[in-house]
Amino acid sequence: MGKVIFNGHIVDRKKALIHIEDRGFQFGDGIYEVIRVYNGMPFTLKEHIDRLYSSAQKIYLEIPYSQQEIMDLIINLLEQENASTCNLYLQISRGVVPRNHVIPKTASPTFVSYLMPGDRPVNLMKIGGKAVITEDLRWHYCDIKSISLLGAVLAKKKATDAGCLEAILHRSGIITEGSSTNVWIVQDGKLFTHPADQFILNGITRQKVISLLAINQLPFAETSFTVEQLQRADEVFLTSTTMEIIPIVEVDGVKIGSGTPGDITRKLQTLFEKEIEQECGPF
Ligand code: PMP
Repeated sequence: MGKVIFNGHIVDRKKALIHIEDRGFQFGDGIYEVIRVYNGMPFTLKEHIDRLYSSAQKIYLEIPYSQQEIMDLIINLLEQENASTCNLYLQISRGVVPRNHVIPKTASPTFVSYLMPGDRPVNLMKIGGKAVITEDLRWHYCDIKSISLLGAVLAKKKATDAGCLEAILHRSGIITEGSSTNVWIVQDGKLFTHPADQFILNGITRQKVISLLAINQLPFAETSFTVEQLQRADEVFLTSTTMEIIPIVEVDGVKIGSGTPGDITRKLQTLFEKEIEQECGPF
């Protein structure tokens, strides 16, 4: 994994050096995407690039490349790196200017993208993971995929300190999402997840799951639910690009349902795998 995309060119990783006055470094002033790569093919690439542009617009950042240019660079990088199954990280920061809070008119954005190793978490998908519930103390622009991730980092610490996979967040008793995942519950055969507003990131995996639910006529609602509803749910699962669909079998030390991955979660995992295989070929 020796090559990276740096400001529109594929270069050796050693040559991609970031300036100390880059606003990404000083202010967390930038946006990012993580894209899953299966068999060397990017999954839901267009959806990720669309969200990148939508995040950019929300922070008044003009990306100096077309969507097609970015997608071509990614494909080129995957070929040059002889990629198999891994993750692609992509970040655009506002660029280099003398430190000042005012958004500069002239800065040229810094664009970096590279591959990170990462197998599918197949064991976790099968047996499920544990979560803690904690207050959502992040800002109110969670729909922007911002590189300012300190709120998520501090929430994730609560999970890892408790030996858990994820911190599930709530605002005044309403579950929003996980520190790096979207959260779903199943109750009496119906699925629920928080609506896509400013309190969650509208996950690409979340959107794919919603389309699978619609196609397969499985009942669901983009309706929020409370901490108590989650604790009493028949099934709980998380979705994200890197983790796909992960059953949550225990929350705050209390079992969810029977304490094993539920039938609907497992069915969705199978449907999701079929989607991946259709787009990127068999595993
Ligand atoms: N919510 C948050 C806060 C996240 O950081 C992520 C993953 N980056 C997600 C949800 C899941 O989004 P996606 O399915 O696009 O990876």
